[in-house]
Amino acid sequence: MNPHRTTAFAIRKRDAIFEVLGAKCAACGVAKNLEFDVIVPQAEPKSHHANFSFAQRMIFYCRQLSAGNLQVLCSACNSRKHRGCTRFITPLIGRQPSHRNTAPQPF
Ligand SMILES: [Zn+2]
Repeated sequence: MNPHRTTAFAIRKRDAIFEVLGAKCAACGVAKNLEFDVIVPQAEPKSHHANFSFAQRMIFYCRQLSAGNLQVLCSACNSRKHRGCTRFITPLIGRQPSHRNTAPQPF
């Protein structure tokens, strides 16, 4: 596959994910140095998806997104999470209306 086309494909995927999740950190709200974060780490070792190409990574993230298992974190919050700060784990599961079966309740 043409590498330029692959990159354009991956950038479109990335932008589509930002559109769904919002282009700001889910923990602190800043809008720069953003990274995708798999909320509940998958069974495969972390190094596994670190070796993916950009396009492969975006496909992986899209799959996590449709499972409701992806969030946007800034690099500071992301590295805090990976140092074991549990408040970044699973804060957002179920917040997407499309993943809910119940209608919003009136106040
Ligand atoms: Zn943050």
